Amino acid sequence: MKRRALIAANWKMHKTSSEAKTFVASLAPRLTQIKDRDVLLCPPFPLIFHVDEARKDTNILLGAQNMYFEEKGAFTGEVSPIMLRDLHCEFVILGHSERRWVFGESDESINKKALAAVNSNLIPVLCVGEKLEEREKNQTEHVILNQLDKGMSGIPESAVSSLVVAYEPVWAIGTGKNASTADAKNAIVLIREFVHSKFGNALAEKIRILYGGSVKPENMKSYMDQEGIDGALIGGASLDVDSFFKMVSY
Ligand code: PEP
Repeated sequence: MKRRALIAANWKMHKTSSEAKTFVASLAPRLTQIKDRDVLLCPPFPLIFHVDEARKDTNILLGAQNMYFEEKGAFTGEVSPIMLRDLHCEFVILGHSERRWVFGESDESINKKALAAVNSNLIPVLCVGEKLEEREKNQTEHVILNQLDKGMSGIPESAVSSLVVAYEPVWAIGTGKNASTADAKNAIVLIREFVHSKFGNALAEKIRILYGGSVKPENMKSYMDQEGIDGALIGGASLDVDSFFKMVSY
């Protein structure tokens, strides 16, 4: 089954409002000829409003990089799913390795966030992936399956079809060391098999699975040529609009 490709930019903690607006103003006219894939921008929280304004009348999709699982309350410094919907976000990245390993997020809290996101009609981009030492101990499959099992626990079938999973080996993120296409493909086959075993064939065929980790214009096509890889989650190389557009138009 041919799924619609999704090319997602994770800007991490980069850009000012004027840089974000300039980026969107430059990207949007180039996207008018590209109708067969989805393009998603995930700016940091303070830029979401500006990117939303700048993307009006375009097909650019909007997402956040994180959120908290409660709707509101005494949670200083946090942002709720309702706030993200209010800013017209459609997606939210959850379980990014920087959230897991820099900020100590657990599978349990990521699962609570995923459930809260789908309750608020946000589509989670659930990130999974092994650390270098886990890969070296041949634990890659175990780590991915465990993160999926815990992260997706309780997600209703109705939300699974639109869910996005990103396979992002931790050792490949921001390091310039990308996974081989074979390794990326194998992990993505494993993820689809997991969805198949839990939710059945129809949902396994629908769910989009991305690769992320040092994707750049030079290697984008080699990933997109792999059966089962439905797109990319791109950090560093998504910050420059020319570079990002090259990857969108792989
Ligand atoms: C990411 O932030 O999800 C990512 C994959 O980063 P980079 O492309 O810089 O490796």
